[in-house]
Amino acid sequence: MSADKVTDASKVKALVNAMHKQGIRLLAMDFDQTLISIHSGGRWKETIENLVKEVRPCMKDLIPACLEKGIYVAIVTYSAQSWLIKDLMKNLYDRDASKVVVRGNTADFLERNNYEINGKEAHITDVLTCLYKNRHEIIKPNEVILFDDDTDNTNEAKKFGHWAVEVKEDISYDTFTEISAMFQSKSSK
Ligand SMILES: [Mg+2]
Repeated sequence: MSADKVTDASKVKALVNAMHKQGIRLLAMDFDQTLISIHSGGRWKETIENLVKEVRPCMKDLIPACLEKGIYVAIVTYSAQSWLIKDLMKNLYDRDASKVVVRGNTADFLERNNYEINGKEAHITDVLTCLYKNRHEIIKPNEVILFDDDTDNTNEAKKFGHWAVEVKEDISYDTFTEISAMFQSKSSK
């Protein structure tokens, strides 16, 4: 068990190092069927503890590893239950939870965007605007990576010049190794 742990941790670290080397400065992560394995439908009525059980371990580990490397992290989701996701972050990461930006389809967000939400671009743009306002950070499109299970969203992200990873049901620490390889093959082109 402990040997597996070390291996898993090293796979997470290798991915984060590859992202960092590529110049990624923002990890934008979808929620349903990406951070968690199920679809909460944006209407989760059960306890946070029951939601914690649905969190994918590898995705859970990726977030603090990115933060530690200085990569910003945002959850970008069509779910309107931003408060629920923030509670989940607190449950998972304690004090570091506040470092994770959550951008969901809340009423104010939808209104700000005239109810025109295509893929996750509006969410990402909103996060980048916040980072600029609050931290004077200017992050370029090719310094953003989206992890999402929906190919419409990953394709849209690529159109806007972001990196994108289509999250499949079997995503795991081993898949992280394949994702790391994507950077090497793309950047050598
Ligand atoms: Mg999803």
